[in-house]
Amino acid sequence: MSERPFTGQAFYQYLGEQKLMGSRCKSCGALYAPPRPLCPACYGNDMDWEQLGGKGKLIAFTTVNIAPTAMIEAGYGRNNPYCTGIVQLDEGPAVSAQIIGVDPAAPEQIAVGTPLQVAFVRRGEGENKRTYLAFEQV
Ligand SMILES: [Zn+2]
Repeated sequence: MSERPFTGQAFYQYLGEQKLMGSRCKSCGALYAPPRPLCPACYGNDMDWEQLGGKGKLIAFTTVNIAPTAMIEAGYGRNNPYCTGIVQLDEGPAVSAQIIGVDPAAPEQIAVGTPLQVAFVRRGEGENKRTYLAFEQV
């Protein structure tokens, strides 16, 4: 596998290839997603890319009515809220992502513990086209 730097930019490049990638510390085995170039557990900097299975469960969520600019441009906002959450991956790390396939207008129907799988959401046009990390119900 090509040696990309362990940065958020590389993480998003991989998302564009439909891959959810983390970094694993070769010294102590700790796994990070999004990737980290340095291991906070043992201070090692010898990392390997590792592709994650993309399955996990919802451990926290909130619905957003006052959207940041990028999400307003994607059509979200006061009249079209969205759900964002923390997903604990089967491999251990927890990632923050949009949760799709749920009804943000009925948050009482969204349950912590719901099994989720990764979804790669493409937004934007032309040079601004980018792939975002999201999860949907299994
Ligand atoms: Zn380590």
